[in-house]
Amino acid sequence: MLKRAVLGSGSSGNAYYMSDGETSILLDQGFSLVELNRRLERFGSSASQLDAVFVTHLHPDHAKGVGILARNRDIPIHLHTKAIARNAREFAFLGIPQKQVVEVEVGEVIRLGAMRIFCFTTSHDSPGSVGWYIDHPEERVMLLTDLGKTTEEQKELAQRASVLFLEANYDEKMLEEGPYPRILKHRIRSVEGHLSNDDALTFVQESGFAGNELYFVHLSSTNNDHRLLEGQAKGRVSTPFVVCEKNRWYGTIGAAQ
Ligand SMILES: [Zn+2]
Ligand SMILES: [Zn+2]
Repeated sequence: MLKRAVLGSGSSGNAYYMSDGETSILLDQGFSLVELNRRLERFGSSASQLDAVFVTHLHPDHAKGVGILARNRDIPIHLHTKAIARNAREFAFLGIPQKQVVEVEVGEVIRLGAMRIFCFTTSHDSPGSVGWYIDHPEERVMLLTDLGKTTEEQKELAQRASVLFLEANYDEKMLEEGPYPRILKHRIRSVEGHLSNDDALTFVQESGFAGNELYFVHLSSTNNDHRLLEGQAKGRVSTPFVVCEKNRWYGTIGAAQ
């Protein structure tokens, strides 16, 4: 069985875990090593069992723990070529040992055990941002987070996916009426910002996603509310779904406390 888990999502740290028992990978690493291990333990794993890491983009909530993990565990860290070339300072700051860095082009397929993994472009205000897709004999998993708008290509990928991790960052009304300064509200709503609940639900409907598991992730703690999104999704999503609260763990074993 391909285990999958949301180890955490949102502005305080993101990491996704996948393992078929032979190969174990992490998508993003926004936690300290202690915290990562604490979360992996819930799913019967640890950082010492990881085989590779794949990074969506270099914003700290997704990448700040990559360096410390890489220095402790000699495994390849995959990043989109542009994420390295166009964020030289942020990339250097992570301190990933050079020999472990694997530069990946969009669409290039990485084979790891039974997994075939590739990335696709996302529209976000960190150059070289991507989403990741894992093709496994048992499941097709798609991670689509931190983007201001979706594309036809992403809809086609989601249509074929059996598991979808999808950003639903903010409720439009909560953002509008909330405390953020106007310029930040504008940034979040922009095409290089984040997906709203409505954007996410529209994406699910338009893509024709018909998988077994849909996780709504990266909810803003200020501009969203998991119960509100649950209510919004109920009328519009026909597949099983979970709304991931910040600081909780989700996955094939259900929500851990
Ligand atoms: Zn983020
Ligand atoms: Zn981001």
